[in-house]
Amino acid sequence: MTQSSGNSECKGCNINLLVIFINNEWHESTSGKKFPTYNPSTLEKICDIEEGDKPDVDNAVEAAKAAFQRGSPWRQMDALSRGRLLHKLADLLERDRVILATLETMDTGKPFLQAYFIDLEGCIKTLRYYAGWADKIQGRTIPVDENFVCFTRHEPMGVCGAITPWNFPLLMLVWKMAPALCCGNTLVIKPAEQTPLTSLYIGSLIKEVGFPPGVVNIVPGYGPTAGAAISTHHNIDKIAFTGSTKVGKLIKEAASKSNLKRVTLELGGKNPCIVCADADLDLAVECAHQGVFFNQGQCCTAASRVFVEEQIYPEFVKRSVEYAKKRLVGDPFDARTEQGPQIDQKQFDKILELIESGKKEGAKLECGGLAIEDRGLFIKPTVFSEVTDNMRIAKEEIFGPVQPIMKFKSIEEVIRRANSTEYGLTAAVFTKNLDRALTLASALQSGTVWINCYNALYAQAPFGGFKMSGNGRELDKYGTLAGDTGIHPKPPLSLCGGIWASLAPTWTCLHL
Ligand code: NAP
Ligand code: MG
Repeated sequence: MTQSSGNSECKGCNINLLVIFINNEWHESTSGKKFPTYNPSTLEKICDIEEGDKPDVDNAVEAAKAAFQRGSPWRQMDALSRGRLLHKLADLLERDRVILATLETMDTGKPFLQAYFIDLEGCIKTLRYYAGWADKIQGRTIPVDENFVCFTRHEPMGVCGAITPWNFPLLMLVWKMAPALCCGNTLVIKPAEQTPLTSLYIGSLIKEVGFPPGVVNIVPGYGPTAGAAISTHHNIDKIAFTGSTKVGKLIKEAASKSNLKRVTLELGGKNPCIVCADADLDLAVECAHQGVFFNQGQCCTAASRVFVEEQIYPEFVKRSVEYAKKRLVGDPFDARTEQGPQIDQKQFDKILELIESGKKEGAKLECGGLAIEDRGLFIKPTVFSEVTDNMRIAKEEIFGPVQPIMKFKSIEEVIRRANSTEYGLTAAVFTKNLDRALTLASALQSGTVWINCYNALYAQAPFGGFKMSGNGRELDKYGTLAGDTGIHPKPPLSLCGGIWASLAPTWTCLHL
């Protein structure tokens, strides 16, 4: 591998982050190829990045494997010291928060204030949460039959692969990296091709913090090449992936065809948001609006099937349209902006095609429904009423600023309809009736149920899906444990922001 001088510069930020990060050093790609990353807001190229492929992944895995060898500095480091390194990384994210939020906004088009206050806040808190776990992972002493002492030790898995998406590039990376490092694993990371900048910046912070060489390695590149090299690799013990169901299936297949590596998948959803007639309407309208339009609609948790009880349906639609019409779309660096551009032309085209299908299939277009003229990848906040379950906008993940609103008559009916999907990531319920809230929370086949709130996501609570929304759990103590347990998760309940109990399968990170 060729070691770079590390002097590649990112336009506007003067930072060494365009190269492959292996063994705490910056490398050019083995093939000599590069790929561009664009600012979706201006459609300008930001810079070219070294394009990693299988030989670069092989080098990264070799480094990660060596860093994990028995007796290596990383394996000899005690748990408290691993926690200290994670705290120090959180300190550096705090120090460089403006730079990281700026890079994230340039690369994704998300509003800067969101990147600063939501994405970076989530990263810092997740790192600190797992820093605290590092020296509290304990086994058990078990009173077995006869005269034996039996105890369990929790061991790190080894080399973990992380393949991340473009909607929350840094946050999704930290969700995978923090528990893996807290438990003493090593990592090979492939960021999404659209948004590699913040992940590569993390490389420079990993080095500054003082993680031993090879503990964290970052190989930017494309999915079918660098990504597939990770999922098929025989020396990667575990993989954590966030992205589409289609690629999630490929990753599981690659894992089974190679070395049966453990796989955690987070694959999106078509999430029901149920508004009962007795709900606080102001709260429900605002949460449903933020729930679907947040992050340009590019969220696996998006409230993209809103079911409203028939008595309040006309009023709910009217107020939702007022909200959508007021939503400010524009320059992500303008502090007033609530919505930036979609990530790329492919996603932009897919969303407009789904909007057209809604019009053709007979949904009532209440507002939006078009791109913003002369503005690249910006789409007007769109609301459809009179949506029925058979329409594509009610069935497919749109991943854009489109709110389909449906009507329901009874609780039994809405439970059946809400569950009639291949997904099961999140759900939300708006009601003042506690019986109804708890009935819905247990009946909905969904990894998370929010009650009278939306997107209440915290490092302390597990996150993940039922059905084709994925396998395993991220965050929480489950983020540090091994293998699917076979326990079907009960939804974590978030009642006005307070988190309740949960039982869930786990994020495969440690051998038990
Ligand atoms: P995607 O292809 O699943 O991308 C996610 C990650 O997987 C990227 O890093 C991607 O690399 C990588 N990848 C692609 N093919 C791979 C392969 N064969 N082996 C290993 N890794 C591979 O998602 P997308 O095409 O960007 O978006 C398509 C749809 O996925 C969206 O419309 C949305 O519905 C869903 N999505 C869901 C989430 C979520 O949060 N669950 C996030 C993003 C997208 P590249 O950089 O080359 O693509
Ligand atoms: Mg970009």
